[in-house]
Amino acid sequence: MDVTHPLAKWLNKNVKLPLIAGPCSVESEAQMMETARGIADTGMAVALRGGVWKPRTKPGSFEGIGVPALRWLKQAGNEVGLPVITEVANAYHVEEALKAEVDMLWIGARTTVNPFYVQEIADALEGVDIPVWVKNPIHPEVGLWLGALERLHSSGIQKLGAIHRGFYSYQSNPFRNEPKWEVSFELRRLAPQVPIICDPSHIAGKRELIKEVCQSGLDLGMDGFMIETHCNPDKALSDARQQITPAHLKELIQSLETRSELIDDQRFIARLEELRGRIDKLDHALLDILRERVSIVESISEVKAEHQVKIFQMKRWFKILENRENYGEHLLLDPEFVHELFQLIHKYSIDVQIKALQGQKDLSS
Ligand code: PEP
Ligand code: MN
Repeated sequence: MDVTHPLAKWLNKNVKLPLIAGPCSVESEAQMMETARGIADTGMAVALRGGVWKPRTKPGSFEGIGVPALRWLKQAGNEVGLPVITEVANAYHVEEALKAEVDMLWIGARTTVNPFYVQEIADALEGVDIPVWVKNPIHPEVGLWLGALERLHSSGIQKLGAIHRGFYSYQSNPFRNEPKWEVSFELRRLAPQVPIICDPSHIAGKRELIKEVCQSGLDLGMDGFMIETHCNPDKALSDARQQITPAHLKELIQSLETRSELIDDQRFIARLEELRGRIDKLDHALLDILRERVSIVESISEVKAEHQVKIFQMKRWFKILENRENYGEHLLLDPEFVHELFQLIHKYSIDVQIKALQGQKDLSS
């Protein structure tokens, strides 16, 4: 039992792998209670999360219930015997959360980016003894993350933690937010006493990817997890795609592997993660290009149909093959690999054209 974990001390609980679980948003008294009971039944969580004021990218989305939800969150926590945590983004939120006796607070990614908001929260917390968790800012700037922790520390907050929830990227990515683990390593270097837990839900964005992110987080020495958990994820009013049921949460945590010594080498893992991240991006870019190629093939099939030209043109195909093999060789790629790859791509182009032609015929008949 790692009783030295700061979260264990703050909550006065023995915890091995601190886990905070709960819905993205508190939606109703019943939803919060049912979710809390499910989470408590797993026996794995040390605290219950629930968003009450939701910072949403698009206006018109569900923006949280506000103050009444604080009561539902706290009631659910009391019922199952778990402390509760919610997000605050301004002084009013802090005041209301403290009134409702919320046990811990977190500052969201969209708030950490703005020192004015962080300072307002820090001022509102002056003299209050409560654990505060700071999520990384939306973009990978460790200075803002550390700056927020420092502002809170200057206000007298001693129980400070960080939450790694990934970073916005405009590039195509399998994840909703790119992990960029190296940023949390840098925070650890700059503030070694601050525990960093991982929020795989906001990194993954899809429930299928959460386990993979958790495993990476564990391998990379994260101090715990915050996982969005909902009694009926598909019906969730926010972040439905990334929420999981309490039963799924239990299964997921049980399936995590504690890796051997070799993989405990953080530099090795970070390098591997970085390289894999680059491969993931390239593979997405490849698929994007293939998609664009298919669209052009569809246009070609229209032009051919208009001019009554045959789909398969032997000369063109031989030229493509020769040209791609030569270019591949110039790039030091194995000609056989390039040959096979283009055979496959070309076969698919022909299939696409046949289908398109069929569609045109069906339309005209
Ligand atoms: C959340 O935890 O529901 C949330 C809004 O998170 P973030 O600030 O990481 O986007
Ligand atoms: Mn969320």
